[in-house]
Amino acid sequence: MTNPVPMPTGSAPAPAAVEPLAGGSAGHQPKATGSMRAWQWRGPGDHGLITTAIPAPAEDEVLVAVEASGLCGTDLRILAGDYSHARPAVVIGHEFAGTVVALGERARGFVVGDLVAADPNVYCLDCEWCRRQAYNLCASVNPIGVSRAGSMAEYVTVPARLAVKLPGAFDPALGALIEPLACVLHGMERGGVVGGRTIAVYGAGAIGLMAVVVAVDLGLEVTVVEPLAPRRNRAQALGAAAVERLAGGAQFDYVLDASGAAAAVADGLGRLRKRGTFIQMGVTPQSFELPWTPYQVYQNEWRLIGSNSVADCYQRAAALMPSISEPMRRLVTHTLSLAELDRAIELIADPAAVKVQVDPRR
Ligand SMILES: [Zn+2]
Ligand SMILES: [Zn+2]
Repeated sequence: MTNPVPMPTGSAPAPAAVEPLAGGSAGHQPKATGSMRAWQWRGPGDHGLITTAIPAPAEDEVLVAVEASGLCGTDLRILAGDYSHARPAVVIGHEFAGTVVALGERARGFVVGDLVAADPNVYCLDCEWCRRQAYNLCASVNPIGVSRAGSMAEYVTVPARLAVKLPGAFDPALGALIEPLACVLHGMERGGVVGGRTIAVYGAGAIGLMAVVVAVDLGLEVTVVEPLAPRRNRAQALGAAAVERLAGGAQFDYVLDASGAAAAVADGLGRLRKRGTFIQMGVTPQSFELPWTPYQVYQNEWRLIGSNSVADCYQRAAALMPSISEPMRRLVTHTLSLAELDRAIELIADPAAVKVQVDPRR
């Protein structure tokens, strides 16, 4: 990549003056004005497009012109007012890629024009959980798109330590899939998933289908349990067997819930082989409880694993992406403009949609 834009000097808190790029990635031409469009959440059910100042990067941050920003279930929970960490008036969006257009004075490792993606979980590095590399459990995490401004906007600021430089020819749509892929990798790593075994994946939404891609890549025999036929068809096209419900007696080395559906979890817990591992990635209703049988856990040496967000595997997901780019790219079924975010929200419930992304350049 060329570096046609002079780096800003000084540390004035005023919005960064973003000069047009002579030749940014994918023909991107950031505006030279000091304002941008962004999608703001104000409170339960209250959200919409606003015009706001382009943020200035802090000294250790980069300013990114967003080229792809994915919508996910977490965003829907924030918009509905069902996510306790969300800060009212926040700009949503945490799955993104784009081009660096300005850097803080102490931001290292990047130049203007770099295509980047970033781990959105801005963790403190100082608490007990950060010291254990369990960054997703950070006691004072400040996630992009949840409690600090997110990527459903023309520009977003990111701490340089959390950004990853992507090859110049990288598709930004794939860059915005690194975050959910990292969530899937975290679940696989937590569960100790290895090839040559069997796995059942409950739910073939975006996370479930990414789990299929990763599991097939690892060499597992994958069975997807999914009530909706269009989603089953996608799972089959990715190399999984797909059923509406499992036959009695079907058992697996791993069961991964990516549905969050109480009935799915209840069914899946009974389908572990000896030494089997159950991985809970889906977000179930908080009030959902299950009877379980500690004797069976003891007798069969089962492991029950929770997997919540990314922890420390964002870089590994970025490194893995090029080798699985073809099946991953097929998961981006819709790309809309920022102004169409209400339509994007509707699409998430459509079984024909998998990953819905916004391109704020549109
Ligand atoms: Zn997400
Ligand atoms: Zn921390």
